[in-house]
Amino acid sequence: MKILCVLYDDPTTGMPESYALETLPVIEKYPDGMTLPTPEKIDFKPGELLGCVSGELGLRKFLEDAGHTLVVTSDKDGDDSVAAKELVDADIVISQPFWPFYLTRQRIESAPKLKMAITAGIGSDHVDLQAAMDHNVDVVEVTYCNSISVSEHIVMMILSMVRDYHTQHAIAKSGGWNIADAVKRSYDVEGMHIGTVAAGRIGLSALRKMKPFDVHLHYFDRHRLSADIEEELNLTFHDSVESLVAVCDVVTINTPLHPETENLFDEVLISKMKKGAYIINTARGKICNREAVAAALESGQLSGYAGDVWFPQPAPNDHIWRTMPHHGMTPHTSGTTLSAQARYAAGTREILECFFADKPIRDEYLIVHGGDLAGTGAHSYSKGSATSGSEEAQNYKK
Ligand code: NAD
Repeated sequence: MKILCVLYDDPTTGMPESYALETLPVIEKYPDGMTLPTPEKIDFKPGELLGCVSGELGLRKFLEDAGHTLVVTSDKDGDDSVAAKELVDADIVISQPFWPFYLTRQRIESAPKLKMAITAGIGSDHVDLQAAMDHNVDVVEVTYCNSISVSEHIVMMILSMVRDYHTQHAIAKSGGWNIADAVKRSYDVEGMHIGTVAAGRIGLSALRKMKPFDVHLHYFDRHRLSADIEEELNLTFHDSVESLVAVCDVVTINTPLHPETENLFDEVLISKMKKGAYIINTARGKICNREAVAAALESGQLSGYAGDVWFPQPAPNDHIWRTMPHHGMTPHTSGTTLSAQARYAAGTREILECFFADKPIRDEYLIVHGGDLAGTGAHSYSKGSATSGSEEAQNYKK
């Protein structure tokens, strides 16, 4: 079989000769008891770069020993890209949300042999899920592999935005010492109302991690958490996103991107937020309206916006979120720490081992299966596609 693997570029200075840490901490299980990936074997050293082209997710030996062909590229946007050309006779495509190969309907229809799209990470909105269902292409992801990585990033961003870390760090780096400049937008998080839109694996973890800061915790989700968890974390449940955003100082967005959540935070919803609130969005860029966010930061309706997700990716050089005031954006990194890479590389291998041995893939990993939403897909997504406009990714200039 032919496996096309689309990964982000190597470091500009080449692959590292050594790493900051020699080993990774050992994690036995995910917080709800689900086991970490269980491939029969791995051919990589956990803690090394695996998500870039030369890292190859540690898959080459495994695939070539079994007689398969592996094509790895980072050239993914436009009809002339290597990925678009290699797709036409591929059986399996592997891509990552950090550097998504947008599998639009047109691309899926250009690949008659395509059987499965694997997301080496979490979040499969870069695939036209409706087209995958229509053409019986399975879509799977490595559920839980980086949910905790992301919730750590959310805590970092809540603290850094509310306390205005970026301004203070810039003053320190530039040789300055004006304390008043450094603190004129700086607050404590203690006592604030913090809410998550969705309390799935990431949202719930973010709530748990924020609890010790003595804040008031809120959530909205289409699936209500158990009474035990609501009591343990003293959660206020909201039955609408409008009700949540009206009372929260900080709103963190943790839903997948699908037709119900696309453009959810538009001008209207942002105008219903508590004045001066902060948004932390590590879910997907397209859940927030690009221009509405920038305008709200200009007007003061929002005090800050941070996250690591953009639309499209890579974000065009002139994307307004690169230059709007009071933002704390990173490129899409929260779910691809070296720690997370080891888990999603192992999870991708587990999925491939199951596929080649004709064994069932874990239910939790399924988004689309047998022409319908399945597993985590049935729980967390709605039918349709969120890939429109992805061709704009071509505008990124190196
Ligand atoms: P999850 O499946 O555990 O949780 C998703 C939650 O969203 C579920 O509880 C579901 O009920 C809820 N939900 C779905 N649609 C909703 C709607 N319309 N209204 C309210 N709630 C809704 O997934 P997770 O592990 O928590 O990940 C969530 C998302 O975060 C992913 O789909 C992905 O888009 C994003 N993510 C980003 C990164 C990153 O690197 N920045 C990494 C992992 C995941």
